Amino acid sequence: MTHVPERYARQARFHGIGVEGQSELMEKRVLVVGLGALGAAVADQLVRAGVPLILVDRDYVEVTNLQRQTLYTEQDALAETPKAIAALERLRAINSDVELDARIADVSWEWLRTLSPVDLVLDATDNVDTRLLLNDFALERGIPFMFASCVGAYGMNYTIMPGEAPCLRCLMRHLPLAGQTCATAGVVAPIVQHVASRQVVETLKFLTGRLEKLERRLLIEDMWENQSQRLDVARLVDVSCPSCQTHEYPSLVSNRQQTALLCGRDVVQVRRSIEGLEPIAHQLERADIAVKRTPFTLEWRWRNHRMLLFLDGRVLVHGTDEAHVAVAIVDECLGV
Ligand SMILES: [Zn+2]
Repeated sequence: MTHVPERYARQARFHGIGVEGQSELMEKRVLVVGLGALGAAVADQLVRAGVPLILVDRDYVEVTNLQRQTLYTEQDALAETPKAIAALERLRAINSDVELDARIADVSWEWLRTLSPVDLVLDATDNVDTRLLLNDFALERGIPFMFASCVGAYGMNYTIMPGEAPCLRCLMRHLPLAGQTCATAGVVAPIVQHVASRQVVETLKFLTGRLEKLERRLLIEDMWENQSQRLDVARLVDVSCPSCQTHEYPSLVSNRQQTALLCGRDVVQVRRSIEGLEPIAHQLERADIAVKRTPFTLEWRWRNHRMLLFLDGRVLVHGTDEAHVAVAIVDECLGV
């Protein structure tokens, strides 16, 4: 009989998983994209369950995250720790046996191409562009992709199995996303935990090979209005879909955006190629700009804008929602 570490005894006791299922879980690898509320919740549950993870997030911890992003502390917000770093530290403290890889990065096609094989992709992002990129990446690699979204007290789950339409691109025009974000419409923690739990249970089913148990419908829940729906979406296949039908994968293109507005936060992200943070710090200091250093970021102020530069060359310009303004400010600080 296969040996299962004691910490997983109750899970292995569960009839749906068993000792064999537990061994399967520990040998698979799941990519979690985004470490906001949803990513933190699924990573917490999956790490406790013994599932090896690759985690990726581009952002840092802020005080407004603490109400729902359960892996982070006040100290993380104070230090503006990148979420990938803060999450990794916390998850390692929860389960030091499980294999974890956490990256500070903005997910792009270039970045995904460098990844070693994963068995499954979990959506914990906050934007349509990245979701469609993950949809195309998963379809092209022939692995499942679990879409999830929450805003307010409202959430959705849908699992895309390769070779089984419709995909997320087919469904986009049918989904009631309506451009709302957590920054504009708010969000309460219970819907996040609910949607995350659905993602995790489907992950456990898939990784243990219990495909007949998978939920194939689109699930919609409004926890405040006490409404839930399970929609059979099989007939919503777009026969000309370039992702699941003609396999052109339009989102798998090079660095789609040089700038991006971050989830309605009055922050614009601008990209620059840099060779380390220290040369930039010296350059700013020579111009009499005070620089705050962490191992992962440089922070400074310029014309009332708070600027944060990451090692991968992304600059977050706070206090504007206009791309051309942000680009001009970065040009002023770093040179064109
Ligand atoms: Zn499709």
